[in-house]
Amino acid sequence: MIDFHCHLDLYEDPQDVLRQAARRRCFVLAVTTTPLAWEGTRALVGSTHGVKVAVGLHPELAVTRHREIDKLCDLVSETPYVGEIGLDGSERNRSSLSIQRQTFESVLNACESNRGRIMTIHSRGAASLVLDHLEAHPKSGTPVMHWFSGTQSELARAIDLGCWFSVGPAMLRGAKGRLLASLMPIERVLTETDGPIARRRGHAMMPWDVREAEVQLGTLWNRSTTGVQRLLARNLRNLFSTYEHRRSGCA
Ligand code: MN
Repeated sequence: MIDFHCHLDLYEDPQDVLRQAARRRCFVLAVTTTPLAWEGTRALVGSTHGVKVAVGLHPELAVTRHREIDKLCDLVSETPYVGEIGLDGSERNRSSLSIQRQTFESVLNACESNRGRIMTIHSRGAASLVLDHLEAHPKSGTPVMHWFSGTQSELARAIDLGCWFSVGPAMLRGAKGRLLASLMPIERVLTETDGPIARRRGHAMMPWDVREAEVQLGTLWNRSTTGVQRLLARNLRNLFSTYEHRRSGCA
């Protein structure tokens, strides 16, 4: 199982979630919302097998935390994984778009100076803008669009730009999410929960709840759950080998 976008540090008992995820052999990418949270989460995770920590600055926090951008850019050299980053153009956050864009731009520059990173990207209400920034930074690495909710033509553009996608049970429960997922190249799809922010019936989604997304993808792709798991595991290996090739200057 793969949870490629999970806020491990935001659970009530992160230690317990970490232990259970490791016991179930669930790969977890723990995204963080501030550079300081990265340090704490890294200490928590330690050398737990199959759990990685991404350094990020959530777009919704860009207004209050943009002074931490230099710290974030310094930390980009310490991990292959950067996120949660991106832009949020929804009603509540639209007024901060210009500061969000400066922040996003800085972090993409930092990713470029480090020969590219694996980035987990938020784009709610701002898919086209996010894609404009990514297009301007073709060497920033591999963008993985988290819970993509743009239009079909924005999706087509994201695919052309080489984006990957992480999809979760919440996204696949809706008809629009399922339609978008069915149009994504299957070799560029991973699963996620966005827990504990994403909830179901009042409960925070746990990393192993990606099982539900595996079943939903099985229906979309006409594959068994085991077949879906094999494919997702291969995708994750390919994503990482692309990163390593870039590092070694082969690609
Ligand atoms: Mn998130």
